[in-house]
Amino acid sequence: MKNLKPFLLAFAAATLLTSCNESDTNPIQSSPEAKLHNKATHEGCSYIDQNWGSSAYISSTIVNQSETNFIKDQNNKIAGVFSISTVPLYFAKGSGTANAISYGAGYIIFGEQLYNMALSQAGRIACAMVQAHEVGHQLQYKYNLPTRRESTARASELEADGFAGYYIKKPNGYNATWTQAAPAYNFAGSIGDYNTTSPGHHGTPAQRRSAFRLGYLLGGYNLSVRDFDYNFFYYYDNYVLPGSLRKDLAKPKDIRSDIHEFILSKVDELRKISTGEISKEEFEKL
Ligand SMILES: [Zn+2]
Repeated sequence: MKNLKPFLLAFAAATLLTSCNESDTNPIQSSPEAKLHNKATHEGCSYIDQNWGSSAYISSTIVNQSETNFIKDQNNKIAGVFSISTVPLYFAKGSGTANAISYGAGYIIFGEQLYNMALSQAGRIACAMVQAHEVGHQLQYKYNLPTRRESTARASELEADGFAGYYIKKPNGYNATWTQAAPAYNFAGSIGDYNTTSPGHHGTPAQRRSAFRLGYLLGGYNLSVRDFDYNFFYYYDNYVLPGSLRKDLAKPKDIRSDIHEFILSKVDELRKISTGEISKEEFEKL
């Protein structure tokens, strides 16, 4: 769920509005923060942008204070794991909020309907996973990633799932076991990206499961954001996607020996996840 067209959104917002001033509702001129502060005087002007329900509005809380504190704390921890400053996080309430979006302007809006769905069906870990995926898109904006370019959003989405897996595994992150992580991912992955503005293919669910698993396995090591990108696509492109085990490649000098040895011991499993030979149910038992 990566918003690639903020300027188009601004244009669309201006044409859709009837009762509000353009300056109240244009997402470029009026950031979520500005709307939050102005809410008392602009109650009737709740329009966020075309990705959200027409009566959805920005709120300082999501679900309740306890959940608000939880997801903000997660957002801080995610920033810590990736050594960036905390990404501004806003909440959208009301109907038409079954979504979470990472904006190119540098903030994330998490919708309450999506949060409630994740919470009730897969627990808080699924909410943290969605947030980590969205912060993953912020890392892509910040570092001009993924280095792997495709004509569709697939590489970006797979890498964002990888960043989420990395965070969920890290001891200073969510610190989840695979038994905790896999069912939550199966839920989070199943709801993802239906509202993206990016064209075409986003990776099959099986490919996305393998990307999450690869990120999770890399979470056993300390990697910078750029090193994560390099390692992730080295293994994903050379060993996971081709559908057969490559034995002809020498380890690149920029990849650590211990990581290489460990991931190579898992590439057969990763490949089988990506093709569906390891099913969604078997994925939870790895
Ligand atoms: Zn996404």
